[in-house]
Amino acid sequence: MERLSAYTTFGIGGAARETVIADCAARLQECVCRGALILGGGSNVLVSDDGYDGVVCINRFGSLTVSGDLAVAGSGLRLGVLSNMLAEYGRAGLEWAVGIPGTVGGAVRMNAGAFGSCVADRLVYADVFRDGKLLRLYNAELGFGYRTSAIVGGDAVVSAAFRTDSGDVNEIKRRTAEIAAKRAATQPLGKSAGSVFKNPDGIHIAELIERAGFKGYAVGGAKVSEKHANIIVNIGGATAKDVRALIDRIKNELLCRYDVAAKEEIVYIGEFS
Ligand SMILES: Cc1cc2nc3c(=O)[nH]c(=O)nc-3n(C[C@H](O)[C@H](O)[C@H](O)COP(=O)(O)OP(=O)(O)OC[C@H]3O[C@@H](n4cnc5c(N)ncnc54)[C@H](O)[C@@H]3O)c2cc1C
Repeated sequence: MERLSAYTTFGIGGAARETVIADCAARLQECVCRGALILGGGSNVLVSDDGYDGVVCINRFGSLTVSGDLAVAGSGLRLGVLSNMLAEYGRAGLEWAVGIPGTVGGAVRMNAGAFGSCVADRLVYADVFRDGKLLRLYNAELGFGYRTSAIVGGDAVVSAAFRTDSGDVNEIKRRTAEIAAKRAATQPLGKSAGSVFKNPDGIHIAELIERAGFKGYAVGGAKVSEKHANIIVNIGGATAKDVRALIDRIKNELLCRYDVAAKEEIVYIGEFS
């Protein structure tokens, strides 16, 4: 049995009952029919140390076709690859996605976003395998909100179509590089799952966590980043239990001190006692 830590950016997680790699749409659908849980980049999840008692499908279906202003991507395509390939084609609009280590499918599910833009701004439709049927769901049907969508467990985003604008290749590449540099300046390197908590309305949660004194605070191998207080980094040997204990400690403190009920952006997989 393979440990899921190999498939998560935290580098944390026990084994699944079975792990299947899907490199085409048919394989992905086959997995979903077997009730598999889908992992894309594993960049927004915390997998239990006890693993997952079921089939996990690692989605590597990464295709791209560009026709006019529409770019249709397989859901296992990495966002960074999508963004860089579109730049090469002289298609603008997804520069913001560079440096997000997730896949297109995970990004649709989470309505991923950065630097004032998000998936919902550009998505035209997603082909979703749901209840044994392939459905084409248009933007308005996808219930997009802040880091949320109407895609639920059991659904599989198979591919997604994005609206792009024409532009000058060098100018798009310059903007992409600028965004990558901004990201490098504000976010830690190392094993993490990006932002742990959503920003409550009008509140920058990283600032609250920092004010509460958590920057650099660690439980076992899990540490609140010195560079960005809403990111927990696995500094070596962290367990899911360490990360969860740190998350719970931060939540309790924010509630007691500021009366703020922080909600996780990351998704828990498996059992947490
Ligand atoms: C260094 C770093 C920086 C990050 N920066 C950002 C950022 O700027 N903005 C941002 O929004 N996020 C950011 N993230 C978080 C993360 O990359 C995004 O949420 C990303 O969209 C998750 O995609 P994924 O493929 O990794 O999903 P996973 O983590 O693999 O899965 C997340 C959820 O989506 C489901 N899922 C995955 N693929 C599919 C599919 N094909 N169909 C249906 N469900 C699916 C999973 O079952 C799970 O519930 C960052 C993470 C890291 C580690």
